[in-house]
Amino acid sequence: MERDESVRTACFLALDVLRAQFGDDLPYRGALDGGFAYRGGRVPFLNYQKGIYRASVQRGPAALSINTSHNSPYDDQETELGFSYAYRTGAIDQPDNRALRAAYLLAVPIVYFIGTGAGTYRPLYPCFVTEDDAASMRVVVSLGRMVGPLDEQAPVPLDDPLERRYAVRETRVRLHQARFRGRVLPAYRDRCAICRLKELRLLDAAHIVADLDPHGLPSISNGLSLCTIHHRAFDHDLVGISPDCTVHVASRLLEDDDGPMLDLLKGFDGSLIELPSRRIWQPSRERLALRFERFRRAG
Ligand SMILES: [Zn+2]
Repeated sequence: MERDESVRTACFLALDVLRAQFGDDLPYRGALDGGFAYRGGRVPFLNYQKGIYRASVQRGPAALSINTSHNSPYDDQETELGFSYAYRTGAIDQPDNRALRAAYLLAVPIVYFIGTGAGTYRPLYPCFVTEDDAASMRVVVSLGRMVGPLDEQAPVPLDDPLERRYAVRETRVRLHQARFRGRVLPAYRDRCAICRLKELRLLDAAHIVADLDPHGLPSISNGLSLCTIHHRAFDHDLVGISPDCTVHVASRLLEDDDGPMLDLLKGFDGSLIELPSRRIWQPSRERLALRFERFRRAG
C-alpha cells in the first residue's frame, strides 16, 4: 500500500521552514493556512474543523495530520507512551477513522497539531500511531524523530520505552507552558501586569503557585502576564504581589540604590497590578496569599 512518502516529506520540510520563521507555535492565519508546496500545487497542512486529515493529493489511505484545539484537554486519558487521541465520533468506519487507523497499520509518520492558543498550533512531527483500540475508539500517538544526514532525513518511531516516556513527558511540560501562555497573555491584553510593557517577545506567563495538575487545562487565575524582568524578579522573590494585587519590592532591594535597572523594580513598589477585565481571569486571591507568604519569608 502507498505510504505517500513524498507528500509527508514535503509537509515536514515546509513545517521546518515555518518553525524557523515563527518559532514552535505557528499561527494558522498567515502561516499554516498557506499550506505547503507539492508538485506545483498547494496542499493544506490540516483540517482544523475535522481533526483527522488526509490530503486529496495523497494516493495512500493514511492520514497526513491530526489536530486538537487549544481549549480541549489533549490528554484527557493518560498514557505514558504517547498522546491518547479519539476517533471521530459516529461510525467507526467513516473515512476519517479509516485514515487514522491506516496510519497505524502502515506505520507512517504523521503530524500532530496541538492548539496552544487562539489560532496557534504547535506541530509535533514525526508522530506515529502506535496503538489502535477500536473498542474505546482511541489511538495512541507517539513521538518519533528524524534521523540521518540533514538533506535526507528519515522519520523513525522511538522504540525504546524509556526514551518514549521521556519524550512524552518533556513534550507535555512544554505544551502545558505554551498553552498557559496562550491563555494568560490575551487575558492581560498582551501586557506586563506590573509595568504594562506590550511586547509579546518579552512577555511570559508566570505561575502564581506551581501547577498541581500539569496535564489539565492551565488555569488563567493561576497566572500573571509578566515581562521577562518582572517574571524573573517574581520567581526570585525580589518582587511580590499581595492578595489585594499590590506590588511589593523586597526591602533588600529598596535599601539599595544602584542604577537604572533597579528603578525598573523599585519604581513599582506600592502600585497596583493591571488586572484582566473578566473576573474569572483575575488572579486567585488564595493563590496570591500563598505565594505572598513565600515572598515575606524570603524577606
Ligand atoms: Zn514588566
